[in-house]
Amino acid sequence: MYLQCCNHTHEPIMLLDGVAVTIGRSAGTKILDKLCSRTQLQIVANHSKKYAMVKQLGANPSQIDGINIGQDRKCDKKGTSSLKSRENMHNSQKNKTSENFDNGTAADVGPPRATVSKSSHWSQGLKSSMTDSSLQVYKDDRVIVIKDKYPKAKFHFLVMPVENIVSTVHLNSAHASLLDHMWKVGRDIAKRSCDDDTKTRFRYGYHAVPSMSHLHMHVISQDFDSPSLKTKKHWNSFTTEYFVDAEDIIHEIKTEGKVKNRRHMTELLKNALRCHICHTELKNMPQLKKHIKDCR
Ligand SMILES: [Zn+2]
Ligand SMILES: [Zn+2]
Repeated sequence: MYLQCCNHTHEPIMLLDGVAVTIGRSAGTKILDKLCSRTQLQIVANHSKKYAMVKQLGANPSQIDGINIGQDRKCDKKGTSSLKSRENMHNSQKNKTSENFDNGTAADVGPPRATVSKSSHWSQGLKSSMTDSSLQVYKDDRVIVIKDKYPKAKFHFLVMPVENIVSTVHLNSAHASLLDHMWKVGRDIAKRSCDDDTKTRFRYGYHAVPSMSHLHMHVISQDFDSPSLKTKKHWNSFTTEYFVDAEDIIHEIKTEGKVKNRRHMTELLKNALRCHICHTELKNMPQLKKHIKDCR
């Protein structure tokens, strides 16, 4: 679901499932009218039920389809609703505030319309996973956590910043607190996911050479018990130095202001298969999988 500007002065605003989005006068929406609050409306989308709760936070009225919103108005129409903030009701032509609020259909839930894709750096795969409510396990104003679509262990999550950061290469010292937060959220998720099983060990980290184009920290249990774990490349990407602990990345950012170049580490993906616990070398994936079942 997304908000699309009727005047096409800004890109559609994505409405993630259950995530409160506050809109109002800002550089992003290009709303200039002082009568429109900076936090005029709060919108929380419900993807499965295909509606959004629109709450008016600003002092002045806003409208949905020509009717004043007031407090806690539930918008449950199919298709598109039109949302207007203060000044548009006064028909000010120079200020552009009207938003089409698209409740969408199941098919609409996901990437916004084509206008965004050109400027977006997110890979289509990870982006649609980010907005897939069935994969989402946590979100706040800075991060989203999803289940990895192809988990390589019993528990495998991706912690991603809301901010569009392509990869670890694009990080600088200004991101230190974000990385700390991602790590903390990751540990909380791990703890929450297997409350009854305290023996489950997790690692938190980044791939040395990230394959997807949106920064993500892996939270992965060390059982590696999953049918999606199929290849030597998969195995080595999580059990060799190709998997860089979040702590190391955070340390590099705090001390050097950037992350080391690890491009040469792709060679590690060709390493022989070794048990991550006892380091025994195994001939192939089936043998490795059999071995790690007992080597815990
Ligand atoms: Zn990755
Ligand atoms: Zn072993």
